[in-house]
Amino acid sequence: MKSFKTQSKRVLDLMINSIYTNKEIFLRELISNCSDAIDKLYYKGLKEGISGLTRNDFAITVTADKQKRTLTIADNGIGMTAEELENNLGTIARSGSLAFKTENAEEMKEGDINVIGQFGVGFYSAFMIAEKIEVYSKSYGSSDANLWVSEGAEGYDVIPCEMDGHGTKIVLHVKPDTEEDKFSTYLEEYQIRSLIKKYSDYIRYPIKTEVSKYKEQTEEEQKDGMPRESYVELETLNSMTPLWKKNKSEVTEEEYDGFYKDTFFDYEKPAKHVHVSVEGNVSYKAILYIPTKAPFNYYSKNYEKGLKLYTDGVLITEKCAELLPDYFSFVKGVVDSELSLNISRETIQQSRQLKLIGANIEKKIKSELLDLLKNDREKYEEFYKSFGMQLKYGIYQSYGMNKDTLIDLIMFKSVKEGKFVTLKEYTEALKEEDKFIYYGTAKTVEAVKSLPQCEGILDKGYDILCFSDDVDEFAIKMLGEYLGKTFKNILSEDVSSSEADDKLNLENKGILEEIANCLDGKVAKVKLASSLKTRPVSLSSEGEISLEMEKVLSQMPNGGEGLKANKVLEINPDHAIFEKLKKVYVENKDGLKDYAEILYFSARLVSGLSVEDSLETTDKIIELIAK
Ligand code: ADP
Repeated sequence: MKSFKTQSKRVLDLMINSIYTNKEIFLRELISNCSDAIDKLYYKGLKEGISGLTRNDFAITVTADKQKRTLTIADNGIGMTAEELENNLGTIARSGSLAFKTENAEEMKEGDINVIGQFGVGFYSAFMIAEKIEVYSKSYGSSDANLWVSEGAEGYDVIPCEMDGHGTKIVLHVKPDTEEDKFSTYLEEYQIRSLIKKYSDYIRYPIKTEVSKYKEQTEEEQKDGMPRESYVELETLNSMTPLWKKNKSEVTEEEYDGFYKDTFFDYEKPAKHVHVSVEGNVSYKAILYIPTKAPFNYYSKNYEKGLKLYTDGVLITEKCAELLPDYFSFVKGVVDSELSLNISRETIQQSRQLKLIGANIEKKIKSELLDLLKNDREKYEEFYKSFGMQLKYGIYQSYGMNKDTLIDLIMFKSVKEGKFVTLKEYTEALKEEDKFIYYGTAKTVEAVKSLPQCEGILDKGYDILCFSDDVDEFAIKMLGEYLGKTFKNILSEDVSSSEADDKLNLENKGILEEIANCLDGKVAKVKLASSLKTRPVSLSSEGEISLEMEKVLSQMPNGGEGLKANKVLEINPDHAIFEKLKKVYVENKDGLKDYAEILYFSARLVSGLSVEDSLETTDKIIELIAK
């Protein structure tokens, strides 16, 4: 007997001992594999011009045998060779979600087991209801058939067997009933029927099951009281029309949501769906979903964007990345278009048709998001908390080229009101002569409020936007302005200036220049700012790069190429420290350097910048106190 690979064994353990309440999904998983296997063969037939492989030749059958306690799921799809049986069913280590599932399997406690419902649980889910599984398979075009058999985590065998046609037949030996689980329900005709209707209705090949029927009786037979003769017949249970090919009016909200959850393995309802049917230059049908929450790996390298692409009902690729711009990478959905049949996974990139569909879809998503923003603010904000960063990142990454698409969709927390406002809402509250959209960079509204310059600006009646993500300031640099108003960091040097201060600065030019000299080029200038109110010192910046940007840049792999903000040391003229500085300047000019360094050191600290010479400077502070 061969052992399962370690990771597979863990998933298997989870499945076998599963207390997962939704055991019934095993049937959906197996049927979906059958459908994929048929797709593969049908697609191969089309591409290679193999005759005798038309749609009508394909079927999936589900048969129950109550005596033997077996449930058999068979397809006449592409099948598997011995090697494929081994690789596909002996190892599970492919998709990101599975990697997550298996890595965490050990830590998963019983109560966490519902987590598995978030993912495509695949073939192994059959072990939730079966104590033994046999997989008979014959690869298309091969004369050998093989049997893969396993009774659980111990391992599996692959041995040669006999089989008529190509395809795969899976025999599940259903577990004995227990107090909690009546596994025999999966052998009941009504149950099979209802599970197929519920989960697999839109599978594009007929799913047939044996249905018991009674022969019609003639009147005479009825009179004689003859028992009705029964027979079994294969009946197709699914409607076979994919959801996206149905009319909107035929599909219920539950069906849209259910399709989303089943297909994209999300346990939350989507924030919105849109069902599109476009006829024209390019024709396509699509169902697009805007999720509410980001999947666990969304902001990581492992996340792959893309829409499921079908051409006339045949799956071409699970994730067609070309159909979605990066900034809408959270969108899930299916697209079905009559593309030329030569299209393969390799030629997708060059397809002009796909480009047109992509452009069209982008517009649709934008308008759906705007609609959500306008008509269901609460839902939009929930969506925005998950994906807002991606939208802002989109503006930054494309050097602002996509701003027309994205600008109306972004929001920031208002410092005045503590809630999200759009840029439009912010600007609408301004007077015509107002020039600036003020923002403060800090993780929270509260933290912006504690920035020295905040109070003064709020006092003047302006609101301030809280830029809480690293990308925010970089993104708005790409925008430059919005509706004629310029973005202004409240820590810019010119925000705090006033005529009275200008005068004061001129009068004290000598001492201020001397302090700047003492700092050896670390600051671009030193100035007095009465807007500091109760604070002794602060740092601001002039020019393009703000203090926050310097922080973000310095954390990048290349250290931001040494890009630094032009810093301005602001001193509060109304604070006692200024009197002291003036005294030192007059009485002991050489002593000024220590003061300048301590002030600069403190200003860096309160601005959240790193301090390099901390030992030296703290020694100086103590020395001064000791004097
Ligand atoms: P997934 O379908 O997510 O890849 P599964 O565990 O359900 O994972 O299946 C593993 C693999 O086994 C499939 O990718 C497929 O290659 C193969 N397989 C499963 N069922 C069938 C089938 N009925 N016919 C052919 N191949 C199959």
